[in-house]
Formats: sequence, structure tokens, C-alpha cells
Amino acid sequence: MTTDILTRGGSWLIEDAADNSVFTRERLNDEQRMIGQTAEEFIEHEVAPAIEQLEGKDWTKARALVRRCGELGLLATDVPEAYGGIDVDKVSSVVVGEVVGRCASFATALGAQVGLAITPLVCFGTEAQKKKYLPGLVSGESVGAYALSESGSGSDALGARARATRQADGSFVLNGEKMWITNGGFADVYIVFAKLNGEDFSAFIVERGFSGVSTGKEEHKLGLLGSSTCPLILQDATVPAENLLGEIGKGHKIAFNTLNYGRLKLSAMCSGGARMAIGEAAKYAAQRKQFGKPIASFGAIKQKLGDMVARQYAVEAMLYRTSGLIDAMLPPPHDAAQVLATLEEFAIESSILKVASSETLDFILDENVQIHGGNGFVRDYPAERHYRDARVNRIFEGTNEINRLLIPGMLVRRALKGGLPLIPAAKKLMDEILAPPLMEPPSDAPLEAERRAVGAMKKVGLMVLGTALQTYGEKLADEQEVLIAVADIMIDVYGSESALLRARQDGGALHSAAARTYISDAAGRVEQAAKTALAGMAEGDTLRTLLAALRRLLKVIPVNTIALRRQLADAVVDRKAYVF
Ligand SMILES: Cc1cc2nc3c(=O)[nH]c(=O)nc-3n(C[C@H](O)[C@H](O)[C@H](O)COP(=O)(O)OP(=O)(O)OC[C@H]3O[C@@H](n4cnc5c(N)ncnc54)[C@H](O)[C@@H]3O)c2cc1C
Repeated sequence: MTTDILTRGGSWLIEDAADNSVFTRERLNDEQRMIGQTAEEFIEHEVAPAIEQLEGKDWTKARALVRRCGELGLLATDVPEAYGGIDVDKVSSVVVGEVVGRCASFATALGAQVGLAITPLVCFGTEAQKKKYLPGLVSGESVGAYALSESGSGSDALGARARATRQADGSFVLNGEKMWITNGGFADVYIVFAKLNGEDFSAFIVERGFSGVSTGKEEHKLGLLGSSTCPLILQDATVPAENLLGEIGKGHKIAFNTLNYGRLKLSAMCSGGARMAIGEAAKYAAQRKQFGKPIASFGAIKQKLGDMVARQYAVEAMLYRTSGLIDAMLPPPHDAAQVLATLEEFAIESSILKVASSETLDFILDENVQIHGGNGFVRDYPAERHYRDARVNRIFEGTNEINRLLIPGMLVRRALKGGLPLIPAAKKLMDEILAPPLMEPPSDAPLEAERRAVGAMKKVGLMVLGTALQTYGEKLADEQEVLIAVADIMIDVYGSESALLRARQDGGALHSAAARTYISDAAGRVEQAAKTALAGMAEGDTLRTLLAALRRLLKVIPVNTIALRRQLADAVVDRKAYVF
């Protein structure tokens, strides 16, 4: 079925979005471009020159930059006007995130402020809490942090040992130690998670000035040296009754919903870092000569640059498609309950984006070091810092393993609850597989072969997920390797369809080259992931039947991606910048 606009998260697996139905980066309006421009001037002129200072742990400078961000309205995008915000669409927030992502340490500080401290207050705060804390966080006068993790509980966040007890006057006493807290060393306000009486997981707004609150030493990190990361120590910390955030025992709702948005924002930052790094790599490849020629003229380097561009193209396509879907469901002014429902609706896409963007960024930064050769390994060039800074993106905001497990987990939950008709779609697919093949009429529409490849990948995804459900039933959660293969297929399906729609809608030879390269590679990956999962689930005749169905569904003829990658590489080298 082809639909004008898909309004349910995950529905792209069983429905095809019509051309011109998705938002793309090319469709940014003047206001969205303007806020991007403001962020760009700030990052280029004020943050980038201060990197050494930030890496020297000059938190006074960090605070001053957060304050400047506030003055420029860059902390206000997600906050209603009543509390000092500008409450713009989510695409605008993504645009700001992309630009800020060029300076990873500062982006992390801002991510914690906007995504992790402001969001829970906006969505779960009482009127009094919003009035008290939001204006300062939005203006940048105060700095926020989010304290969920502990040394013994990271992925298993609900296993926290921090404990709250209630006093006779209604106030709380908190004890415990939170680990790896971004902005920890200089934040004023912490969103802290602890269990009331060791049982009811709850959230609290804790000020640095409350008695019993202190921070530990800065961690010695691999990267993000310009971002503060330290423990938050709570020793009989007294928290007034009115600083309970949300309800007792409902802290998980705050923690997980905050991360849904945090992941989208993190993806925007990864996307911005990747755009910048592709430009850096292209410039270096154009000027560095070996064997009497610029290294950009060698096929091995073109292959890398072409790959970088194609993978980044798909990440952007998913990022803007998803934020456009959120905006379509959630036009400003925003109501907190609607924000929560919409972020939850697109939680699958946020997890897909978190994994795809962080891994694409790491791939790009690794190849950027490689293109720089020895210069990539020394501190004289920024490639080295970018490479180190990015590694943590696969660890925080839910590790990529946890996010991969969430993707099929959420799809199955929605299928079983009836919100997403995956089961009838899987049954229809089985009928199709058993029936004689139908020939699709030939078409000379642009990217027609790719459209068919995307349709085929969706069917493979559905077949593998359906087989997994049938094979393991309720025990599917224990089969992580199969779930991870399903997640990888879903990431490639969403990435391929988003790239296809972007290229068909917004046209041009380079768009087409990027989408074709990505989809051709994705089809190969999907085939491999499907084989791995099916061979793990079945054997003998059953496996042979499933593999025959896979061959029948995924008849994708490889395209000349060598030529397409060269075309993309030549374009970025010509412009000495990323091209989209
Ligand atoms: C620089 C930095 C900044 C951070 N900022 C913050 C912050 O501001 N606030 C905050 O609260 N936290 C923060 N964190 C903590 C971060 O969120 C955690 O490190 C992360 O959630 C992973 O938890 P962990 O380190 O305990 O790893 P673990 O949970 O021990 O995971 C170790 C490995 O096991 C895997 N694993 C764990 N459980 C499962 C499972 N069920 N199935 C399959 N695989 C599994 C993981 O994917 C990972 O590969 C930060 C961390 C860093 C490094």
C-alpha cells in the first residue's frame, strides 16, 4: 500500500510512503535555515576557537559559552514561551543539533542541558517546577545535568542503588553515587534517579547547593576532553518535597522518554560531525600529493569518500524524515502530553537513528584518519580528536546493543498490541511466497530498480521477523543474535527507503548516485543478515525453503557502485566540502 504520509512509527515496514510525502534536508524553510545560521556563526566564531581552553577543563569558559547559547536562543527551541522558550518545530532543533555537533565536547554539554535536563522538566515538571527551573536553563544562567547511571547500573538503569527516604515533613533524603555525569563538574541542577525505600524508582530535581550534594573527580577519558564527566555524590542529600519530579515509582517513564528525544538529538549531532568530517577528508585528499598526484585521484581514496557520502546521505534522509514526521503530528505550540506521546510513537525510528548515525560517524571518522595517513594520527590535525570524541556515541544514550534490541522489541510489542498490523502483513507475504511469481510491469520512472529493491528488503525484514516470532514465540527476547540481525535489516530498510524518497523528491544526479550506492550495499547487507538469522533458526528442508523464499524476494541486480562512488568522491573533492 502507498500512503501520503505515514503517521505511525514503524509503519514504513509494511506501507510504502508516496513521493513528496517526507520531509528532507532540502526542504528547510527560511526560519529553519536562519536558526542554523545563528548556530553556525556561534560555533565557528566562539566555540571552535575555544576548544583548547575547554579541553584544559576551563569550566568558567564552558559556562560562559552555555550562557551565550542561551542569549542566542539556542537552548530555547523545545521550551514553551511561558518559561522563556521559543517552542519551535523539531526540525529546527535538529538543525541546531547538527551545527553544534561539529564541536563534540561542547555538543555533549549542550545535549545534556537541552535533551536531558530541560526535556524532563518540560514534559514532567509541575507548573511551579517549570517556572522555577526552566527560565534559568533556557537563558544559560544555570547549567543542567542528568544523573541516571551508576557504577553498577548503566544499561540496566532500573537496577540503580541510589536510595531515597521520605522524612516526616515530606522532604526526601538521597544517598548514593551517580557515575559519568555530563556537565557534572559545573552543573547547578541535576535530574537524579533514585529508589524510594530501595523500591520505587523515582526522579528528583537536585540543586548543587542542597546539603549533602557534591561531585567527584573528573574522569580521564579517551575523548570529549572538553566536556565535564564526573560522579555525583549524594550523602544524606536533602531534597524538598516539591522537588519530586513526576510521580513516585514512575521514574522509568521519565528516564526512557527523555532518552527517546535524546537519541534523536544525538543523531543530529552525529550527522553534523559527519558532514564536517567529509569536508575535511575531501580537502586533505585534494591537497595531499603522493606519487606526484593528489591522493584524491586514487580509486582507493575515491572509494572511501564515495562511501562516506552515500552512508551520510541515508542518515540525513532518516533524520529529517523522522523529525518531519514528529512535526506533522506535533505542530507548535507544544503540549507536554502530546510531546511525550509523539516521541514514544517514533521511538523505533529514534533508536534506528541513534545506531545508524553513531556508526556512520565512526566509520567516516575512521576513514578520515586513514585518508590523513600519519597526519591523521597526530594532534596537529583535527581528524585525531574527532576520532576519539565520537567513540562514546555508541555507548551513551543507551548502548548500540541495547538500541538494536529495542528496535525489533518495539515492533513486536506494537504488532501484538494491534497498533501495527505486522501479523496480517506477514501472513499476506507468506501467501505471496507460496503463489506463482507476479511480474511487475516495466517502468522507466527514476530509481525504479531501487524502489523495487526497497520493497524487497521490507519483505525480507517481515519474513525474518515473522519466522523469528513463529520459532521462538515469547522466548524471542532470549535470542539476541537473531534480534540484532532483524535490527540491522530494519536499519537498512528505513535508511534505504528514506534515501530513495529523498533522491526521488529532491532529485539531481548526485542524489541519485548516493541513494543508489546506499541501496545496493544495503541489499547485500540485508541478504547476509537474513541468511545468518534464518540459519540460526531453522535447518534441513525448512531452512532450504526459507532460503529459496529469500532468493525469490531479494532479486536485486548489483549496480556499478564503483562508478557511483567515484562520482560522489569527485564532487566532494571538487567542492572541498560535503555536497548535500
Ligand atoms: C562520556 C560519558 C558521558 C556520560 N554521560 C552520562 C550522563 O550525563 N548521565 C548518565 O546518567 N549517564 C551518562 N553516561 C553513562 C552511560 O549512559 C553508560 O555508560 C551507558 O548507559 C552504558 O552503561 P555501562 O557503562 O554501565 O555499560 P554496561 O551496561 O555494563 O554495558 C557493557 C556492555 O554490555 C552490553 N550489555 C549490557 N546489557 C546488555 C543486555 N541486556 N543485552 C546485551 N548487551 C548488553 C552493552 O551494550 C555494552 O556493550 C555517560 C558515559 C560516558 C562514557
